[in-house]
Amino acid sequence: MHDLDPSFAVDEEEDENNSSSEADRVPTVAANAHYRRKKSKPAHDSLAMQLNGTIISPNCAFRSEVNVTAVRTDWEHTTGKAINYSFYMMLTCLTQIVVLLRQMLHTQSPSAAVRVSLLCVGWQTVLDAVLCVGHIFLCLVMQPLFTAFASVAFFKLLIFCVIEMKYMAIVVQARHNASNNAGNDTSAEELRRKVALLHLRFYAALMFATAGFWAFGQKHRILYVLFLYSFWVPQIVCNIITEAKKPLHHYFVYGMSVTRLVAPMYMFAVPNNFMKEVNPDFPTDLLMCELLVLWVGVQAAVLIAQGKYGARFMIPAIFLPPKYDYSRPIPPSMKPPPPPPSETPKPPRNISDDEADGAGAVVVKQRGPRIRKGSGKGKSSGGPRRKNAARVGSEESKGTTMTVSEGTRPPPDAPTLDCVICYNDIDISDRMGYMLAPCDHIFHRTCLEQWMDVKMECPICRKELPAL
Ligand SMILES: [Zn+2]
Ligand SMILES: [Zn+2]
Repeated sequence: MHDLDPSFAVDEEEDENNSSSEADRVPTVAANAHYRRKKSKPAHDSLAMQLNGTIISPNCAFRSEVNVTAVRTDWEHTTGKAINYSFYMMLTCLTQIVVLLRQMLHTQSPSAAVRVSLLCVGWQTVLDAVLCVGHIFLCLVMQPLFTAFASVAFFKLLIFCVIEMKYMAIVVQARHNASNNAGNDTSAEELRRKVALLHLRFYAALMFATAGFWAFGQKHRILYVLFLYSFWVPQIVCNIITEAKKPLHHYFVYGMSVTRLVAPMYMFAVPNNFMKEVNPDFPTDLLMCELLVLWVGVQAAVLIAQGKYGARFMIPAIFLPPKYDYSRPIPPSMKPPPPPPSETPKPPRNISDDEADGAGAVVVKQRGPRIRKGSGKGKSSGGPRRKNAARVGSEESKGTTMTVSEGTRPPPDAPTLDCVICYNDIDISDRMGYMLAPCDHIFHRTCLEQWMDVKMECPICRKELPAL
């Protein structure tokens, strides 16, 4: 009663004194309804009817403001926009499937798969699941647009439930096998427990993300969306810790970064999108979109730079432990004896492996595995071969991906050792041309760098290689 407007209190007293009639007891409604249409919007835009009114009851000292907005949606027009949206979303989903499969191919060897951050893949899985749930929600609240949103939800379901879940299981299995190889004998039961735990964590994260949307989606929308789109951060941190150089294929980084921005860009940056048709108060947030593009762009740039300049390029060298020097001088015991001065270069001839291996005083006997694009391409690495530059062309014609540039061919009188990756001679007088592993196995720099993109172990003795 004390909160009431004084004028109402006076009315009430008067009513009591004069024993007011029945008509006075009926609440008075002062309503003012009108159609509102913004002039800037096109003629086919949705109509919004706004009802402003006041309900007054002097007897009860009751007063209530009424403010109602009713929207009449032009469903035919909105459906067209929604179908366009779902078409572009499906294109982005197809792109995501392609880059995901490319990434799985990139890390098909277990040693490459263990370097992928499980949290990074899991984060993107949760993001896809949130988008899937969001589109199912749109299906339910906008029945006329059911088909458009259901198809997007289906594609998102396919991505997170089939491909990304499978990829996470592959990474878990690769880590499990690596742990077994390292001497920690863990059972298959342990692996099943890890995969079950992974699913549990995923559903917990999905619940947190959905709850976070209701809690922070309105008030702290920018922070919430930026957090949801921080999915590359775990991989950047993982790279720094493990010194992995390029665990993610650059197609995957570029493809995912761009396609994941499509949905928020459409929702919050495109004027007159279908959400605005249905709900004229749906916000347009250009600042959030700019920050989002910047944030995802910075993360992708750091990942690509880690692949080019090393995983710890952003950390000053004084904070890092000393690095292994692959260009260290070759120990005298490894060096081949200098050729006799009177010897003249012989014309190229075909010789067998045994002849080749026995020809020098110090050559590598064991043949390591070769890097190939596909197992069906090319012949095996054995068999007779030519031991000079003419061999380079024949290696390329067999379909190997290892190509040796002309610059790696040593001068005829330079002391040489064999590179087991490409079977060519190494010019040991050029310290930037070779890489000497801690196990004293020597390779061409280009050959071993390509090898290290796939495996961080010596091609000959399989000892672990320190990061570049
Ligand atoms: Zn080589
Ligand atoms: Zn070795």
